[in-house]
Amino acid sequence: MKQVPLPAEYIDLGTDETRARIQAAKAALGNRVVILGHHYQRDEIIEHADFRGDSYKLCLDASRRPEAEFIVFCGVHFMAESADILTDKRVILPNMAAGCSMADMANIFQVRAAWKAITEADPGVKYIPVTYINSAANLKAFVGQYGGTVCTSTNAPVAVQWALDQGEKVLFFPDQHLGRNTAVKLGYNPETDMIVWDPFKPLGGNTAEDIRRAKFILWKGHCSVHKRFTVEQIAAARVSHSGVKVLVHPECELEVVQASDYNGSTEFIIKTVEAAPAGTTWAIGTEINLVNRLASEHPEQTIFCLDPQICPCSTMYRIHPSFLLWTLERLVDGEVVNEVIVPDDVKGLALKALDQMLALPPVVKALTD
Ligand code: SF4
Repeated sequence: MKQVPLPAEYIDLGTDETRARIQAAKAALGNRVVILGHHYQRDEIIEHADFRGDSYKLCLDASRRPEAEFIVFCGVHFMAESADILTDKRVILPNMAAGCSMADMANIFQVRAAWKAITEADPGVKYIPVTYINSAANLKAFVGQYGGTVCTSTNAPVAVQWALDQGEKVLFFPDQHLGRNTAVKLGYNPETDMIVWDPFKPLGGNTAEDIRRAKFILWKGHCSVHKRFTVEQIAAARVSHSGVKVLVHPECELEVVQASDYNGSTEFIIKTVEAAPAGTTWAIGTEINLVNRLASEHPEQTIFCLDPQICPCSTMYRIHPSFLLWTLERLVDGEVVNEVIVPDDVKGLALKALDQMLALPPVVKALTD
């Protein structure tokens, strides 16, 4: 994921000129391009997006523009890879340095080594791998190879239950917290049914007996944004705002999810706020750009971030408007820069794992769960 330096002519452009030139380039490209904006992008990017959503919804949105040749994905690298796998369009990531620190916590070599060690320590037991969509394409391909599935934060309980129906145990990566919260939702005990796999320690930091006893092996990964939210912040919000509802993402730690009133994906968070009666007060535990946007779009509610120290996703933030302008203007000139291409051998197996996710039963999720 190497990013070439931004050409000097783009570095000192003012906000107004950048906005006007992005609009002009987009108009010149017309139907040939669709711009996707993840909820965690800054407003100066979202204003140019044809669609906004979470990573999975955005791929579906892009396929509603069959005439588009190019997707400019304003998100992070694994999202652009998923778009390349799931659509027939050429995918551009405005800044190749926009990765995801959680996705980077598991790589294919570590996961292959873990799989070998686990299956050797627990022979004859059928493990099913489940990867969060926040993972590299070659990890999705690994899951496709071994009969597992991809999941999102929306459908994780359905995906994990499906995996348990196919086998006896689950290896879940890369986010231990989504894995733990999901298993707890399915009725499993976080103390006795789960272990954490640390890729830097022999046997993941466990004994062979630990592995044989566990139902779930959770990769030691986390989201640097959602890990910031704490039980103490929830307690403080309840003191400072009487009647506040606390709404957090399931990438938060189990204790935080358990102390909240509601938890769910970014789409769930948005729908929950939209459906609430006017005058409701919300303390939200997710990325600050989404929280601020919800606050400005819902003045009838009181909405604030659970973490008083503002917490943007630093890698999402690398999609600066100057990079978007550069990629669009190059496209106008007939040059495709920053194209994300998943190799064909990886693509086939990754698509198998994503197709398995699409074949899962739909999520029927009440807004109050
Ligand atoms: S918010 Fe967390 S999981 Fe999402 S892109 Fe940023 S680091 Fe990755």
